[in-house]
Amino acid sequence: MNIRSAPRTLAVATTALLALGGVTACSDDGPAGADPQRVDVVAAFYPLQFLAERIGGDAVKVSNLVKPGAEPHDLELNPGQVGQVAEAELVVLLKGFQPALDEAVEQNAKDRAFDVSTVQPLMDAAAGGHDHDHEGGEHAHPGESGKAEEPGHEEGGTKDPHLWLDPTRLATVGDKLAERLGQADPDRAADYTARAGALRAELEKLDAEFTAGLKTCQRREIVVSHTAFGYLTERYKLEQIGITGLSPENEPAPQRLAEVAQEAREHKATTIFFETLVSPKVAETIAAEVGAKTAVLDPLEGLSTGGGDYLSVMRTNLATLRTALNCS
Ligand SMILES: [Zn+2]
Ligand SMILES: [Zn+2]
Repeated sequence: MNIRSAPRTLAVATTALLALGGVTACSDDGPAGADPQRVDVVAAFYPLQFLAERIGGDAVKVSNLVKPGAEPHDLELNPGQVGQVAEAELVVLLKGFQPALDEAVEQNAKDRAFDVSTVQPLMDAAAGGHDHDHEGGEHAHPGESGKAEEPGHEEGGTKDPHLWLDPTRLATVGDKLAERLGQADPDRAADYTARAGALRAELEKLDAEFTAGLKTCQRREIVVSHTAFGYLTERYKLEQIGITGLSPENEPAPQRLAEVAQEAREHKATTIFFETLVSPKVAETIAAEVGAKTAVLDPLEGLSTGGGDYLSVMRTNLATLRTALNCS
């Protein structure tokens, strides 16, 4: 029985779930979802979908709550998606990233959730991600101050959620996800562990490519549209200058645009980066002002229509960075 197809109100969904309680959700003895052969996994957004599919393989059925091409930060759930969460055998989410999902999980799937933010401590969100004391840079920027200038942090305060942009962190999350899948589906625990190991090898190879590719560059500052790249810049010793803060929706104030343009000039940036899922307008404005180009640096919050997967998009990002930063 497929109770997932028809849109319905929350009240109806709740009633349906109560009626089906013994059949779908809330079963204590192993996988018992709509497809009894496979574990029903709901992923909060693309990189978590990627992990679940790679580690789960044929043994899982993964659905992503964010539609292709949509920006995941401000995910809102329709009643059908709340039902999906309630029915899932495992919900993979990053608490603090999508408050609506946090709430739905709290109410409907508390014991079937895997929160990837618990795997390793999240980094503090640096204001604008650009700290001149950090890498021995001596010059100070009086106007470049802290978080108070960035309104609208609704992501649990000062923690940066974008952990997937460090491939080694993603590998560690993958290992833990394999454990969690193994608890949900003990018969295939060894398969999950093996696939997580294979994925770890691929992610470590990617990490080595980034380390080597960004080792010697003429510049190390990247001007980006929102400060999604803190884990990447931390790992590979770059510095991000974010036009907006942790969420792409924040409308930058004219003063912030002027500061960023000033930074771009000072660090001789040749490229202002924008994202596939967000309008390039602001990046284009700054680029025109300082005489730079624009290019896509993809924070992988979703897959754009260009396709590929986490690994291929990250390799495209690496090539883009090497060009923009004049790496040898
Ligand atoms: Zn983001
Ligand atoms: Zn600077």
